[in-house]
Amino acid sequence: MIHIIGSGLLGLSIGYELLRQGLNVKILSSNLDGESSNAAVGMLAPQIEFKSTEEKLFSLMLESKNLWNNFYNKLTKDSGIDCEFQRNGSLAIATNNDDMEKLKFKAKFLSQFGYEIKFLDGRETILLEPNLSSNLKGSIYFKNNDQVNAQILKKSLIKAFVKNGGKIEEKIRIKKITLQKKKIKLLSSEKCFECNKVVLAAGVWSRELLLESFGISIPMRPLKGVTMEFYHSDKENNFNHNLWFRNIYIAPRLNGNIVVGATEDEVGFKQEINMQDMFYLINNLWPLIPSSEKYAFKNFKCGLRPTTFDGLPVIGSIDKITKNLICAFGHYRNGVLLSPLTAKIVSEIIVNNKENYNSLSPNRFKFS
Ligand SMILES: Cc1cc2nc3c(=O)[nH]c(=O)nc-3n(C[C@H](O)[C@H](O)[C@H](O)COP(=O)(O)OP(=O)(O)OC[C@H]3O[C@@H](n4cnc5c(N)ncnc54)[C@H](O)[C@@H]3O)c2cc1C
Repeated sequence: MIHIIGSGLLGLSIGYELLRQGLNVKILSSNLDGESSNAAVGMLAPQIEFKSTEEKLFSLMLESKNLWNNFYNKLTKDSGIDCEFQRNGSLAIATNNDDMEKLKFKAKFLSQFGYEIKFLDGRETILLEPNLSSNLKGSIYFKNNDQVNAQILKKSLIKAFVKNGGKIEEKIRIKKITLQKKKIKLLSSEKCFECNKVVLAAGVWSRELLLESFGISIPMRPLKGVTMEFYHSDKENNFNHNLWFRNIYIAPRLNGNIVVGATEDEVGFKQEINMQDMFYLINNLWPLIPSSEKYAFKNFKCGLRPTTFDGLPVIGSIDKITKNLICAFGHYRNGVLLSPLTAKIVSEIIVNNKENYNSLSPNRFKFS
């Protein structure tokens, strides 16, 4: 039996893949407020999301994006729940000359990788999205920069996991991990789990658990993010593509709702949603989408992104601890996108004993 700590999108995707490989799996989760997966929008947008300093991450994002079709088809068949993977592409929009310069820089960088980038002027952009303000300067259309509904994805994974024989124990907060001969013990307030192999997928809380248990400090911190969702009754107000502008993005859902993301704040483990969060999102939305004044408010969500100092996720075992404790956390702003690839990497480690992605290994850090 493999034990997984954490039932966010990473823990669930890994659990689902391990079951498909024929293993028995149990997930233990404390269902903490601030879970990143509960707030995620679900953009699957490698070319738009990457930054020029993140070449390694970019290749992981592309690799995982290529796995998405298969992952989605299998999952939908297994769970019977469609997580609304929309291949609707994205428009990165320039609202002023500064934005246009940034788009040109991105286009130049991407051309090194063989991408042919086509700029659309203001008029061509409005033809694609008539509900945008005519004040915009232009845009780039990115095919294959799609979206999924992250919260339905989570429901779909839970359903498929349980249907395939996986077990989930809720409200179990692991407080300490200890080693005893070849066994790993997971201690919560009420219970002790004796395990052969454990996957640590507790998002940003993984750091505290490793520190408390082994004195090992992974350089990772929470980055608070807030999203908001609206609905409107007028179908004419819908958008066809995902839209990115002025440091925010919009995901038009299949039911007509509109999700707007996201803030990024260094406030430790604080999870409150304050006026500044609301103002930031609304203030950026309003000028480019005049009809947003008629949107009806549905909800705000807040999550803590598990963010490593080098921006890469942490996947693999720690030499100083044991081969049988496998880390799978630190996916920062791309955990939804990277779920299929992470599940594949962890299952290769467990099933075939292969650690092929050295750049993601926790051993890259010098532990204090
Ligand atoms: C506002 C926002 C928008 C985002 N949008 C996108 C996006 O569009 N596309 C994208 O790819 N990514 C996006 N992300 C990033 C993505 O949400 C994360 O990278 C991903 O969800 C991380 O998943 P996780 O399973 O590692 O962690 P989490 O989702 O945080 O889950 C951790 C789990 O571990 C459990 N846990 C913690 N400690 C313990 C313990 N001691 N014992 C037992 N259980 C424990 C928690 O209860 C939780 O279930 C966004 C994030 C935010 C905040």
